Formats: sequence, C-alpha cells, structure tokens
Amino acid sequence: MAGLFSKKKASCALCKKEITHTHKPKRSWKVEGSLCADCYLDLLEKNFEDDPEDRCAVCSAEPGSFNLWRPKKGWGVKGFLCKSCFEEREREDDDLRNSCCQCGSSTGIFPRRAKEEWGMKGFLCRQCWKNAQSRQP
Ligand SMILES: [Zn+2]
Ligand SMILES: [Zn+2]
Ligand SMILES: [Zn+2]
Repeated sequence: MAGLFSKKKASCALCKKEITHTHKPKRSWKVEGSLCADCYLDLLEKNFEDDPEDRCAVCSAEPGSFNLWRPKKGWGVKGFLCKSCFEEREREDDDLRNSCCQCGSSTGIFPRRAKEEWGMKGFLCRQCWKNAQSRQP
C-alpha cells in the first residue's frame, strides 16, 4: 500500500513542472495547490510590497509572521513589530509610564497615556490629563 502514495507526484500550480519539494503559497497570493521553488520565489518577490504584515514596521526585519507582535494601542505603530522592536517599545513605555510627561511628577498607580491628537508622547498625571482634556474642543 505504501507504494501507492509514493508514486503520486506533485506538480507546480503555475508552471506545471513536477516537483519533489512543494512550497505552500501564501494565502494572500490566491494560488491553489503547491508551487515549485522558482515560482514560489518569484511570487514572494512580486508580493513583497503588498505584504507588510510579514515585516517589522519599524526595522523592516522579516522574522516570519509567527514572530511578529502586534503593537500596543497608543504606540502609533501601523503593522507589526519584531520581538526586539516590541521589547524596546515596551521598555520605553515603562520609563515613560513612571512620570508625567508634562509636569514630571509621578503618574501614580494608573498612568494615563496621552492621546495621540494631543501631540504628546508618554503618560500624564491625573491633573495634567484633566487639563489636556479640557483644552480639547
Ligand atoms: Zn513552478
Ligand atoms: Zn523590528
Ligand atoms: Zn502632570
């Protein structure tokens, strides 16, 4: 019975070449079946621009989509981050979190992140957050 399976040969969905090593196309490529290495690389290159989800939005590293992290709300980052960029942001965040970016006083137990439209980076103490919010139209 085992022989039955080994006889089955795969062929590339694009060039129809017989392939021993199949490459799975990415879902976004809308290709049915398997690809040979040539066609796979070809498509990979062509789709590179259209696939920002596979790249770190900060350093453009391509650690693979399983190693990309979704940025936290408020970081103002579109797309995904590689682990090191994510950790760097998080560290930065921790530093900022401790003191108010406006008056420098302690932000207390519940730091409030400045809203993006306020044009401030970091966190605010309760009083400054209130002030900033009341300045909004
Ligand atoms: Zn092919
Ligand atoms: Zn990165
Ligand atoms: Zn303050």
